[in-house]
Amino acid sequence: MLPTTYAIALGSNVRSRYGAPERTLAAALAAIGGVVVASPIIRSAALGPSKRRYANAVALVESDEAPPDLLARLKRIERAFGRRRGQTWGARVLDLDIVLWSGGIWASAGLTIPHAAFRTRAFVLHPLVQIAPSWRDPVTGRTVRQLAHAVDRRRPRS
Ligand code: AMP
Repeated sequence: MLPTTYAIALGSNVRSRYGAPERTLAAALAAIGGVVVASPIIRSAALGPSKRRYANAVALVESDEAPPDLLARLKRIERAFGRRRGQTWGARVLDLDIVLWSGGIWASAGLTIPHAAFRTRAFVLHPLVQIAPSWRDPVTGRTVRQLAHAVDRRRPRS
């Protein structure tokens, strides 16, 4: 069986024990393992009332894990990096989301792939288009490149 490929989005807007958000993302990639390619890290404006800017990146990761097992491991990594629940708009030491996977559509309790919000998030699409422009969203049939262009037309680049 071919290994499964996942696109994982990473975000951080506060220092962790690894240092500034860029260092946190690099340490998180090492913790996740199986990284085939990682995008450059981009800085994006904070969402909501938080004043802190985010560092964001996307990586393509090969793994034999089923989606719920990978999500459980990503949540353990978030906790190990100091992430606390209930910080939706505040300081985020580390946020890890599964954006896409090579298996198409997945839906189970607490996990939807493609990620429900990725089509409108420039901070996901801008790094993703740099490493997987031709990956086709199985829900809309549009490529990552098309989704990135659409998000740029709706909203000027930050
Ligand atoms: P967060 O944005 O990290 O606060 O995620 C909140 C919850 O979204 C997680 O606990 C997951 O159970 C759920 N979730 C649903 N789909 C996904 C996905 N594709 N990637 C990551 N988390 C997801």
